[in-house]
Amino acid sequence: MARHLLFWPVVLMLGGTAFAQLKEFKPGFNLFSKEQDIQLGKEAAAQVQKQMEVINNPKLQAFIDRIGNRLAAQPQAGGFPYTFKVVNDPSINAFALPGGPTFVNTGLIAAADNEDQLAAVMAHEISHVSLRHGTNQASKANLIQLPAMLAGAVIGNGSLLGQLAGAGIGLGANSVLLKFSRNAETQADLTGAQLMGNAGYNPIEMARFFEKLEASGGKAGPQFLSDHPNPGNRMKAIQDQIRFMPKQEYTAGANSNFREIQAIVKGLPAAKPKTLANTLKPSADTAPSGQFKEFRGKSFSLSYPDNWEVFGDKNGNAVTIAPRSGLAQDANGQVQVGYGLMASFYIPQGRDQVDLNQDTAGLVQQLQQTNPGLEVGNQKPRRIKLNGQDALVTTMFSQSPYRGETEHDTLVTVARPDGLLYLILIAPAKDEQKLQATFDNMIRSLRF
Ligand SMILES: [Zn+2]
Repeated sequence: MARHLLFWPVVLMLGGTAFAQLKEFKPGFNLFSKEQDIQLGKEAAAQVQKQMEVINNPKLQAFIDRIGNRLAAQPQAGGFPYTFKVVNDPSINAFALPGGPTFVNTGLIAAADNEDQLAAVMAHEISHVSLRHGTNQASKANLIQLPAMLAGAVIGNGSLLGQLAGAGIGLGANSVLLKFSRNAETQADLTGAQLMGNAGYNPIEMARFFEKLEASGGKAGPQFLSDHPNPGNRMKAIQDQIRFMPKQEYTAGANSNFREIQAIVKGLPAAKPKTLANTLKPSADTAPSGQFKEFRGKSFSLSYPDNWEVFGDKNGNAVTIAPRSGLAQDANGQVQVGYGLMASFYIPQGRDQVDLNQDTAGLVQQLQQTNPGLEVGNQKPRRIKLNGQDALVTTMFSQSPYRGETEHDTLVTVARPDGLLYLILIAPAKDEQKLQATFDNMIRSLRF
């Protein structure tokens, strides 16, 4: 309770009359495309189903599908291909993976007072999916490996999830894919309240259920609150949102078979946990053809050799362009780029404005942290003009994935509204001369 009082003045200022209207939100900055959200969620769901005991009970499934499909059909659900499963787990929780797979614990069904309260938690989860909070956070984590990861999903049998796992982003505790900022929690509450109301469920039941969970807290509190913490003044914020929603009768949860469903859940045998193993195979070469074609991405375009391939997704903001043979998976399953170009964004921390010099230095520092052995050349970064804009060229050296080879990495950075756009052109030092003209063409072809 002290927590509520603590945030009271802040909320008063932010939630005062100036914002007295329905609050609606849009997804934030993202390196992933919507399709990659969906792919990542599918892969992660396959893992979850190996680790957790999904219940195969027709009545239970029909019940959860009925609620889920009703919620998923609302505009706030963003049109993702949602699926709904019940997991045999006594903790009071639910979670949704990027792109739509949603899992509801038996413990949550047992703890809810009515169908509307269960729908409230599901609407909150669906809102995290439609607002793309998981991949938004992964994008903002400034994972330098991200372009290679998004590439890795396409080569061999490598999976996007496997790549993310290699970089420390898994589905475990504190995963950025499943544990969100306070701001994201507020968005999921308010979008969820609107969503459930549209679907015919009484949104006040969301505030009531969260209040009940907090009251039953104890020291650790129910798992749901630890995964989706109160962003401050939660109940009041939901009530405020409801005031601006159209008045209607909420009948979706009337005549519910909720008690019968709770009885089924309570009669289930205790859960048995499982473990999983993750396997990724190595992949296997090509000089640039001399002919170029154009890559048109979401925020930039450039030319590349027509016998190279674009890995990742054009609708995202991170790609790797390389000959297929220039990519290799290391022993940990991470994709290494031996030849090619990686392009992505670096997001300045704690500032809105991008500063070319300062953020290039920050990016180099981060690259050095994530790539031990990476060294910056003796020359100072070179200032060039790219498409009329100032850009910096920084020369770096590292260990090539090709055994015993030194790698030459040319880093090109340019300040864009979304962040610092960077290209890393990669080749073993011995082949650098051969690739120079190709790389120069690629850099000079960059357009925004
Ligand atoms: Zn949440």
